[in-house]
Amino acid sequence: MFDPAAFRLTPQEAALTAQAREFGATVLAPRAARWDREASFPTGNYRDMHANGLLGICIPAEDGGLGAGFRAYCLTAAELGRYCGATALTWNMHVCSTLWTGALTEDLDMPEPARAEHRARCGAHYAAILRDGLVYSQPFSEGGAAAAGTIAFGTTARRVPGGYRINGKKIFASLAGHADRYGILCTEVREGEAKPSRRDTLYLAVPRDAPGVTVEGDWDPLGMRGTVSRNLVFTDAFVSEDAALMPPGLYFQAATRWPHMFMTLSPTYMGIAQAAYDFTIRYLRGEWPSMPPVKRRMYPTKQIAVAEMCVMLEQTKALWFQAITEAGPDPSKEQVLRAWAAQHTVMENAAAIAAKAVRTCGGQAMLKSLPLERLYRDARCGSLMLPWTAELCIDRIGRDALYEKGETD
Ligand SMILES: Cc1cc2nc3c(=O)[nH]c(=O)nc-3n(C[C@H](O)[C@H](O)[C@H](O)COP(=O)(O)OP(=O)(O)OC[C@H]3O[C@@H](n4cnc5c(N)ncnc54)[C@H](O)[C@@H]3O)c2cc1C
Repeated sequence: MFDPAAFRLTPQEAALTAQAREFGATVLAPRAARWDREASFPTGNYRDMHANGLLGICIPAEDGGLGAGFRAYCLTAAELGRYCGATALTWNMHVCSTLWTGALTEDLDMPEPARAEHRARCGAHYAAILRDGLVYSQPFSEGGAAAAGTIAFGTTARRVPGGYRINGKKIFASLAGHADRYGILCTEVREGEAKPSRRDTLYLAVPRDAPGVTVEGDWDPLGMRGTVSRNLVFTDAFVSEDAALMPPGLYFQAATRWPHMFMTLSPTYMGIAQAAYDFTIRYLRGEWPSMPPVKRRMYPTKQIAVAEMCVMLEQTKALWFQAITEAGPDPSKEQVLRAWAAQHTVMENAAAIAAKAVRTCGGQAMLKSLPLERLYRDARCGSLMLPWTAELCIDRIGRDALYEKGETD
């Protein structure tokens, strides 16, 4: 969807996106309806992604992974999102466990001994992913303001001999019951400290079968049904020190100095927007494989609708590509505003393009035998993703465009 020559992709980006496109079309697409219908986790896809190296896409090359950086990952994830939104979105949770702890932390400040320890610790996690196909998730949300980044997480970790004792609850924990490690964000609490602080956020990989970890609640949502985002409860769950995916204080530094890290949910929806547009073109040309070859492209209203979708898609791709290209440490204010604008645009436009596709293609196109109605439902979920929901992006753009740091009225 991003032509290597036109968008001047690197050879690695061109190769990864081609691989993802082929894998998506041949493996993900034929299975996608099943995960959606059953609201079941795409376990078979993960087995195949382990076999073809995609579980290690952002594991540093020196640790045996493919060594993709932020933009290469985003472009690859967008290709997968065209074929199965639920797989692309959950794969994002897994990949961030390696991207945020790997390439991203190299841009952050850490004393050298801490960095050496961090690299060794993560190296062990990466080795297990590459060797055994371990899958990591990212349950951060708790139903309050913590996942929006405004207060400390209510899930707590207390230091005990050899590790941490965790208590709390996560909602919408994609891959619940299916990930091998739950990469949770929680607040380290110490005796005598009155107020929990976001600076004390810990990022811990909790083994699925650790005593005190339970999955609860049912899962029957509108869209993204294959993510299986049930609730996770931690009751005095113990994890060893090796579970730390970042040293204390580093997640806070990452969140404040490398804000584009929160754009990683957007590629899935960029892919869905492209898929809804592609479907419309093929359908109106009478070229959808399982349908009679009836052409609908000659009606002016359809042509206008397609033109409007094309304009919206091109605007979305251009802004998103610029924002993922300039991702890095300590971005300027203008770059952060652009990142929020890009996130908002992708999430809202994916839903708008999918809605327009349903209206334009017509009645038969929304049957469950075709992928469009799933794209429409999956697309609707993008704007809800914390910490950069569509509402919060607007909230922050408005505030930061009008106020410089420290200004009040
Ligand atoms: C399919 C799916 C998969 C998901 N997977 C995961 C996952 O793997 N891990 C994970 O951590 N979460 C996941 N989420 C959760 C998601 O990121 C949100 O946390 C969740 O949708 C919030 O639901 P809520 O009802 O608690 O909304 P609320 O937190 O009540 O938010 C509702 C809206 O209010 C606004 N809002 C919230 N807080 C503030 C604030 N402080 N200031 C101003 N406005 C605010 C936001 O725009 C938000 O959209 C998933 C969600 C979905 C739908």
